[in-house]
Amino acid sequence: MRKHLIVVTPTYNRGLQSYYLNRLGQVLRLVKPPLLWIVVEMSAASLETAEILRKTGVMYRHLVCGKNLTDVKDRGVHQRNRALEHIELHRLDGIVYFADDDNIYTLELFQSLRKIRRFGTWPVAMLVQSKNKAVLEGPVCNGSQVVGWHTNEKSKRLRRFHVDMSGFAFNSTILWDPKRWRRPTSNLVRQLDSVKEGFQETTFIEQLVEDETQMEGIPHGCSKIMNWHLHLESRELDYPKGWVLQKNLDLV
Ligand code: UDP
Repeated sequence: MRKHLIVVTPTYNRGLQSYYLNRLGQVLRLVKPPLLWIVVEMSAASLETAEILRKTGVMYRHLVCGKNLTDVKDRGVHQRNRALEHIELHRLDGIVYFADDDNIYTLELFQSLRKIRRFGTWPVAMLVQSKNKAVLEGPVCNGSQVVGWHTNEKSKRLRRFHVDMSGFAFNSTILWDPKRWRRPTSNLVRQLDSVKEGFQETTFIEQLVEDETQMEGIPHGCSKIMNWHLHLESRELDYPKGWVLQKNLDLV
């Protein structure tokens, strides 16, 4: 029996939302089941999102977070927490992966997730539009053992683990069966909106594992890029004159 994958995606209405969700949905559709796509919107479940999800043919749950964004840096935090609560409450059993709607993922990535036992991590290529550069973030591995980290950004050097939000996945039972994993803290595992920008991932991961020995680097030697994190701002896009545009780029 193949392991369940639980893919968590925060999303919101803006130009290109339809494009992003369709693109991710089409990759997920190619992944062998069982896979559950948990898509979380902020204050209400929009009809546009519901329609896109229905058409993808992927098994999904469409959740609403019910909280408002308190700070721009909290992008997606409350929504991911809502999904974590859902997984914990319903004791969903599988490998949890946070896939933002706007990034680019290979099929190979989703296939590799099934190899994870406790906590898996891998290097991610980050494309930063404003700086016009690509950097690598994530583990340096010897086989599957994590032996170091790519540290590019000076401001983030103090982080314990140098992992991007799209560069790790973990066994969901860590959330609701902490004793089995001897989880380092007995606190509820949540993403904290009070955390400084750039430290969200490490603070979250520190609740799941004690150190690198409890991590699995994938693929072997962490030698491949399996997904790209794009920082592209699509709120202010210019559209051709005369286009009547819904908020999420479904044209009429
Ligand atoms: N997001 C959201 N509401 C917002 C901003 C972002 O739901 O107000 C979602 C967005 O759709 C994406 C994730 O949160 O899935 C991360 O957002 P973004 O890519 O803008 O952040 P970055 O990764 O560039 O910091």
